[in-house]
Amino acid sequence: MLIPVPGVEYHRAIIDSYLATIQSIPKVIHLDRDHTPTRASALAARLAPLSLLLLLGCGDAPGPPPHEGPLLIDGGTVIVMDESGMILEGAAMLVEGTRISALIAAGDPRPAGARVIDATGHLVIPGLINTHGHAAMSLLRGLADDLPLLTWLNDYIFPAEAALVAPDFVYWGTLLSAVEMLKGGTTTFADMYYFRTDIARAAIDAGIRAVTGPHIIGFPTPDFASPEESLADAAEFMEHYRDHPTVVPAVAAHALYTTPLEAVENAFRLAEQYDAPFLIHALEDPSEDVAARELTGMGVVEALGSIGALRPGTVLAHSIYLSDEDIERIAASGAGIAHNPQSNMKLGVARAAPVAEALAAGIPVGLGTDGPASNNDLDMFDEMDAAAKVQKFMLGDPAALPAETVFRMATMGGARVLNLHDEIGSLEPGKRADIVLLDTRRPGLTPLYRVYSHLVYAARGSDVSTVIVNGRVVVRDRQILTVDEEQVMEQARGFGDRLREVMDSVAAARDPG
Ligand SMILES: [Zn+2]
Repeated sequence: MLIPVPGVEYHRAIIDSYLATIQSIPKVIHLDRDHTPTRASALAARLAPLSLLLLLGCGDAPGPPPHEGPLLIDGGTVIVMDESGMILEGAAMLVEGTRISALIAAGDPRPAGARVIDATGHLVIPGLINTHGHAAMSLLRGLADDLPLLTWLNDYIFPAEAALVAPDFVYWGTLLSAVEMLKGGTTTFADMYYFRTDIARAAIDAGIRAVTGPHIIGFPTPDFASPEESLADAAEFMEHYRDHPTVVPAVAAHALYTTPLEAVENAFRLAEQYDAPFLIHALEDPSEDVAARELTGMGVVEALGSIGALRPGTVLAHSIYLSDEDIERIAASGAGIAHNPQSNMKLGVARAAPVAEALAAGIPVGLGTDGPASNNDLDMFDEMDAAAKVQKFMLGDPAALPAETVFRMATMGGARVLNLHDEIGSLEPGKRADIVLLDTRRPGLTPLYRVYSHLVYAARGSDVSTVIVNGRVVVRDRQILTVDEEQVMEQARGFGDRLREVMDSVAAARDPG
């Protein structure tokens, strides 16, 4: 028997449930949102007259302090990720300011006077690029799992978001995720969530590169009453961050099943105005195409094409249910796909996104973890492993999606998806110094025959020892240097305590007696 795929009615029911939940659940009291944990702000508290200056300074200086001079990463195996796939054993990489200035072969003279990071026994790789997620949801991680989507949303995620989502929740949740991502070798993340300035503030404090900004959805959210209201001052964010060294302003529209096409088009026009990435969920579920046809007379990809929104820098998150025609249309446009294999599998999607086909058609494909409540970690090594295996499993072909292809997706592929491939994604001189050192002197990585095999099938985020973003060392010897990790976790535990109380009262209201 053929079961019809639900359309608009189904999505309307989810949205109505969300709206009823935000009406009925009161907001809980928030922490002091100005209390940030940067080393600079701790110092500022002690040096009261300088505090304002320091606080402003810490937010706008994500590169290396000028007195630190050049940095030489010496003695590792450098996986350059250029077109030719060059790998240099025992090489050195010179970083000057925020960029890579030279690759120096083993045996060639090293410049004098640079600070040296000894990379012996390490793979030196481009920082990993997480092309899709909702970082602040780390504060909801593990609240509920293993449930049908509607139960998970209606009984857990919607009430939790209704009670807690506010600037402080977004700031601390994003910061928590940023620490996890940096320590695991991710140097850039694309994010769609509420309270954009708090996402940006957390990313700047952590020292991670963020692709984020206004987020448009067709109903009231914790930060705006309507998409029109969200867009009304969105240009201010885009303007403020347009030349920022580590925040790449982007515009997101949630999806066509939640947001009217006209609002999606207005959001896209803003992205166009700033030549910015445009982020949208697309075809995570077959019902999206049915709903889009009911609402617009076109499928999701065709509808996006009709408003001109398919172009380089447009990120289609998930893209599981693509038709051959959709693949052709996306390939011709230059738009990219953020593939989130673990989130898709956890949700019980019994089909893999057609990644091998998309790559063969020339579509840029990157990897994403999706939100930490649906994965449930932000480890891009884990995601690479899953991406390779799910294609082999679904296609019944061990040769599908080889390790090198997957590693390229997590680096240059992601950079291309975000239209940032001239700046990040590889270790070529001239690019931003977003560099990760992975320690191979570990039981799980010894001996080493083929670097891509270890990077995709054996390495974990916990094998990362040092991380550099925009020329600044942000993780050294597995320690985050930019924020007080203990304090971040303490704040996260505080949100956890309050959420437990909220969920107890929700359960009591649902099941009185
Ligand atoms: Zn998502």
